[in-house]
Amino acid sequence: MKVKKNNAYLLLSLIFLVAIAASILLFNPIKSVIQSRTDYGFVSVPELENYFSEKQYNIDIQNYEIDLELFTEDETISAEVVIEGVYKDSALKQIDLNFYDNMEISSILLNDMAVEYIHDNYRLSIFDDDKRTEEFRIEISYSGSPQNLGMGSFNFEEEYEREYVYTLSEPVYASSWFPCNDLPNDKALARIRITNDSSAVSISNGVLESIEIEDNKKAYIWQTIYPISTYLIAIYSGEYKKFTQQYISINGKKVNFDYYVSPEKFKIAKIDFDFHPQIFEVFENLFGEYPFVDEKYSVIEFFWPYGAMEHQTVTGMSSRFISGNNFFRDIYIHEVAHHWWGNAVGPETWKDVWLNEGFATYSEALYYEKVSGYSSLVSTLQSKFRDYTEFSLYDPGPNMFGSMVYNKGAWVLHMLRKEIGDEDFFTLLRNYFETYKYKNASTENLKTLAEEVSGKDLNRFFDQWIYFGKGLILLEYDTEIKELKGTFETRLKISQFHEEYGAYHFPLDVELKSVSGAKKDFGFYITTLDTTLILNTKFIPGEITLDPDSWLMAIISKSFVEETDEEEFEN
Ligand SMILES: [Zn+2]
Repeated sequence: MKVKKNNAYLLLSLIFLVAIAASILLFNPIKSVIQSRTDYGFVSVPELENYFSEKQYNIDIQNYEIDLELFTEDETISAEVVIEGVYKDSALKQIDLNFYDNMEISSILLNDMAVEYIHDNYRLSIFDDDKRTEEFRIEISYSGSPQNLGMGSFNFEEEYEREYVYTLSEPVYASSWFPCNDLPNDKALARIRITNDSSAVSISNGVLESIEIEDNKKAYIWQTIYPISTYLIAIYSGEYKKFTQQYISINGKKVNFDYYVSPEKFKIAKIDFDFHPQIFEVFENLFGEYPFVDEKYSVIEFFWPYGAMEHQTVTGMSSRFISGNNFFRDIYIHEVAHHWWGNAVGPETWKDVWLNEGFATYSEALYYEKVSGYSSLVSTLQSKFRDYTEFSLYDPGPNMFGSMVYNKGAWVLHMLRKEIGDEDFFTLLRNYFETYKYKNASTENLKTLAEEVSGKDLNRFFDQWIYFGKGLILLEYDTEIKELKGTFETRLKISQFHEEYGAYHFPLDVELKSVSGAKKDFGFYITTLDTTLILNTKFIPGEITLDPDSWLMAIISKSFVEETDEEEFEN
């Protein structure tokens, strides 16, 4: 998911980028510009722990059949959902699902038998007292007006004087419109049937199996081929016009890019959406073939005002970000990247949300690097450079979708790249994708694989940047130059400061330049709070730059030591 706050913010970002570009031209790359906090974290999930019951971890859902009829006039739905799964714990005789109790259940059948159940708040408990098998099939019929929870889980909306319906369930609000095991790591297949007025086009995940017409109603039936997490299941319905681009994957497979927008946006959407093949080409070369190659990729105009959402194969793109002038490219790139990171490789838990957002955000920078070189990666990352001192990256608490998760997540991947080197880093990305696609991965899974690929102990890296450390590094330095028999010795004193963490360990490049333009590069590995480094050159050092290629999430500044009037004392 990617959100933008408002136009004022966009304008600020633009000014900020211009300021950065100017400062790069005028000075050495700087990192001391800190933008005031602009968090997107308007979602908090304080009850996340209670939302899931223990029993939900002991079932495995394999298939959802969601048959949904939309009544846009009175903003209600009626549905039949069939859920097939197995018990992972054979002692268990109760199936717990998530489902909000404002939806009225008319019947529940478990393996074709009527059963006892409790439907309370956001939980539906079904009792399998006469349990005979480890497999279960639950049929639930219900109706009602879905609540609009979280970022707007279920929406009936009038736009352009027509009715549109869309969903956005991330992270835990799929249960506002269908019963499910809403754990992100319980992936299943899904068949989604949407019935609406015959003028509406209805879109969902997977491939379109058929369209059925009955009187003045039309049903679209979609089927996934690849497993999906419940928060990525989405529907869109309304008067859409469709256009298609054909793409050939890196392994020669044909993929349709099907775009659905309102007639009002049809012309300009063609301009904004046109560069998708280029994004896919870059990511396939970096990470591996598009993981949903036998389904499709779609971008669908929706009316969530804040940004876009990477629903599996059906990205929702805010109407506001279809501008016809390619102004919002980073959002489009971000959502495509999620199809590798977040959708194919899902998060094991919501504590691992940075694996979704940090990877998608760093992928934006990787895209720009591929297309226009390393300096574009650096400027992309510098636009995301802020100090975040409140939460650690792992388990960011109520700030799950705060900009820290996105921006620090991207920076941490960039630093991991420096830590293990380019070759191992890109091998890691490909192996991580290959190992966990269509499954889920935890932060620990990433760490183990990174250690395997690089042969390095990454405990400290993960502890300081991901699990425990907060914020970034403040680095202060000072230099002293001596001439020794025709060579020059620069003593570089460095101090690192943190609020709540001991010494960070990190690689640090230093560049020395003479007035006439001679240059020498040094590479160090810092492991102490205060460090003195010796740099020898044959030229008189004129200018020193720490971290010239921007590998470190640090604010670097020359320390200003107060001058004491020593000379007078010596007299
Ligand atoms: Zn995102």
